Amino acid sequence: MNISGQIYYDGAWRAGEGATYQASNPANGADLAPVMSTASKAQVDAAVAAAHRAFLSYKNTSPHVRATFLRNCADEIMALGDELLDRVSAETAYPRGRAEGERARTCGQLRMFADYVEHGEHFDARIDTAQPERQPLPRADIRFLNHALGPVVVFGASNFPLAFSVAGGDTASALAAGCPVLVKGHSSHPGTCELVARAMAKAAENCGMPPGVFSLLMGEGSIVGSALVSAPQVKAVGFTGSTSGGMALYKLANERPEPIPVFAEMGSVNPVILLPQALRKSAPTIAKDFVASLTLGVGQFCVNPGLVLAVEDEGLDDFVKATSVALAESPAGTLLNKRICSAYGEGLERYSQLDGVEVVGRGRAVELTEGHHAQACLLRTTAEFFLANSAIHEEIFGPVSLLVVCKNKNELLEIVTHLAGQLTGTIHASENELENSPELVELLTLKVGRLVINSFPTGVEVCPSMVHGGPFPASTDARFSSVGTAAIKRFLRPVCYQNYPQSVLPDALKNNNPLGLLRTVNGEVTTSSIA
Ligand code: NAP
Repeated sequence: MNISGQIYYDGAWRAGEGATYQASNPANGADLAPVMSTASKAQVDAAVAAAHRAFLSYKNTSPHVRATFLRNCADEIMALGDELLDRVSAETAYPRGRAEGERARTCGQLRMFADYVEHGEHFDARIDTAQPERQPLPRADIRFLNHALGPVVVFGASNFPLAFSVAGGDTASALAAGCPVLVKGHSSHPGTCELVARAMAKAAENCGMPPGVFSLLMGEGSIVGSALVSAPQVKAVGFTGSTSGGMALYKLANERPEPIPVFAEMGSVNPVILLPQALRKSAPTIAKDFVASLTLGVGQFCVNPGLVLAVEDEGLDDFVKATSVALAESPAGTLLNKRICSAYGEGLERYSQLDGVEVVGRGRAVELTEGHHAQACLLRTTAEFFLANSAIHEEIFGPVSLLVVCKNKNELLEIVTHLAGQLTGTIHASENELENSPELVELLTLKVGRLVINSFPTGVEVCPSMVHGGPFPASTDARFSSVGTAAIKRFLRPVCYQNYPQSVLPDALKNNNPLGLLRTVNGEVTTSSIA
């Protein structure tokens, strides 16, 4: 399959009428063919209109039809074979294994949502039957059902070209909910975007989905992305990326005549707290695992451990020594693009020039002169300096972490109190330390979406119990997760049916329960039909 540089909407591939550009290989800076086209404002409007038309029928498709479509999307992505894996590696410099792993995760997510909607849990069907004899007032028959929200705009992330991109978790969960998806593809991996979109388009055609159920629009965020978010028929936005990008879209969505939700997953430094007993017992192992987590994917994970908090102790000295040794053996890695590479270099320079911050460990130096590469780094500061300088609380995207050394446990608690919202919070502790630190655990729980004990936060399992989100500014809405089956809740809204005749009720709420759903009937969770 050749990459054409076209965009896809209303069931057809077309040349974009906006500006053109070319992707480049971050490993060596070389341009990648072909020239890619971008959408014009008129094309964005046409795509949104098609998505709205598709919504009117797609929202009513049965769980089985939607599940078949999602599974077919996964099959068609797999059918792209090596061409997809090669393009991912060329556009991101990710090794083959990473590309394969991400493809498996992407297809796994699509299949997980297929199973989930078939099971029908997303409907959250609730029935309170009429009580005509109730005193002092009778109760009407009242029934609750989740409906699809409407067309959703998805902004793909640069760091997950498959799993958080064109057919990633946002797209899978929105399609599963019954919402057409308009993807604003990431300009860092446009060829990957097109290949995956071709698989999605084929699956839509195979399964007889309405044109407009899925679209891929390439173009600058401030032009194409903003036009999509401003379109009146768009009803929600899924975003993974920078705080500035997420907040710009959040502001735009809230200034619309009809504001819409923006589920943005943004920056996070993912604090790792190392308690003394754990360090005294296992400093070398914790240091080795920490460096592996820090440098995984060249540090380009939203759950990268960017902040380490610990109290002065001989175990901490051992940790710093072991970390410096392990870092010194870590090769330099290639970052995703020029912008991320410049931001990494500038951030590191800004932090390390401060009087209160010192470099205590570095990875192997960058030797290549072409491309966008980074040397891993561990910085150190004191709790006092950290608390007085909020400018060093921010994320530097890449393989760098800041160790904050506290004089005592009170200082550690003060830092956690002042932390902004995070995706994850990790504690390394003995069981005894953990039991004796209820205040620390309680404070950390207020700040994060996921708590990790004696492990590291990199590696976000896709499963029903996962939470990938957190209090602001980690995300714009701490009530939701962008990974796992809970992600579908972002794109559903409840509708109540009062006094509705059986013949016109949705199947999910009919007395005879034709879909065999687990429903809450008069307070009891049951699959039984109602007599
Ligand atoms: P980004 O710059 O936020 O871009 C993400 C998407 O949003 C792109 O499609 C971009 O369009 C669009 N966008 C950005 N600003 C916009 C605006 N003002 N209005 C409308 N659309 C906008 O993120 P990135 O390119 O993936 O990486 C850059 C930085 O984001 C990194 O250095 C890192 O700090 C952070 N990041 C965080 C995470 C995370 O999970 N938290 C993941 C990846 C990156 P364009 O095509 O115009 O760029």
